[in-house]
Amino acid sequence: MKKIIVFSGAGISAESGLGTFRDKGGLWDQYDINEVATPEAWEKNPELVLDFYNQRREIAIKAEPNAAHKSLVDLEEHFDVHIVTQNIDDLHERAGSTQILHLHGEILKAECTVNKSEVVELSDPKMKMGDLSTGGHQLRPHVVWFGEAVPMMLEAERIVSEADIFVVVGTSLNVYPAANLLYACKKTCQKYIVDLNELSNVKYKNLKLYKGKATEQVPNLVKELIEKNE
Ligand code: NAD
Repeated sequence: MKKIIVFSGAGISAESGLGTFRDKGGLWDQYDINEVATPEAWEKNPELVLDFYNQRREIAIKAEPNAAHKSLVDLEEHFDVHIVTQNIDDLHERAGSTQILHLHGEILKAECTVNKSEVVELSDPKMKMGDLSTGGHQLRPHVVWFGEAVPMMLEAERIVSEADIFVVVGTSLNVYPAANLLYACKKTCQKYIVDLNELSNVKYKNLKLYKGKATEQVPNLVKELIEKNE
């Protein structure tokens, strides 16, 4: 069975109502990244950081998977599919995809500030100061902040290096080291990009662009991949 790796970013969840990152009107137009998504922000004002992620979590819980998330599930009948996502929402899971690696963490989970490997599912979507791990230390959102290492990166590179087909959906490829995943593919790997815009930072051979909305272009691409494989 051929192996397909789908590398997704905020753009795949945009039509589910989750704000993207850098697009006009995106999240960082409304918030100063340094105040809410860095270790320094946590040191300076943890309540503000928790509040920011509590808001993101509330919106993520209400959102529903869209046609792009759902159509990727159809690939699983024909291919060995792995999703590597930069998204912290759980829309790939709720759509029904089965092999998902979250590079930047998961908003519905928390981690211990001291023992980072202690990760817990949140029972209350509103986190607050005083929420403690089993070891008695403050919990923080289970997300990778700017300036932090990306623990899942090596595993993601390993998976991508085995891909026969690599599909990029809805990421500006501006966040590193995640964007380096592009270069972990084999030379022979067929690559596809689905995005509203042409990504000027990508210099690729074997590349086909599906320009447009993820909810329209991902189902088109999925159909083509299945037909080609038959
Ligand atoms: P980004 O905002 O930098 O880029 C979004 C990309 O999606 C752009 O290239 C844009 O043209 C494209 N896009 C926007 N709407 C689209 C649509 N409807 N159809 C197709 N393409 C569309 O996002 P990124 O590259 O994922 O940035 C990475 C960071 O954003 C990650 O760290 C991630 O954790 C964080 N983030 C996650 C979420 C989420 O979990 N849903 C939301 C916002 C930000």
